[in-house]
Amino acid sequence: MDAEIVRFCPECGTERTFYQCARTTLHLGPKVKYRCSECSYGFVRIDEVVDTGATAD
Ligand SMILES: [Zn+2]
Repeated sequence: MDAEIVRFCPECGTERTFYQCARTTLHLGPKVKYRCSECSYGFVRIDEVVDTGATAD
């Protein structure tokens, strides 16, 4: 599990470094929230595969 990943941020309109800001373990696997280093945009990944595309709030 990476603590930092590079990903396109729709708020910034460019690629940003996202930091892991929260982690919970579900029966599906680890659910991890990432947040943009430059704005408040966040998203959730489950088991490092499923990207919900949802904001992390
Ligand atoms: Zn951003």
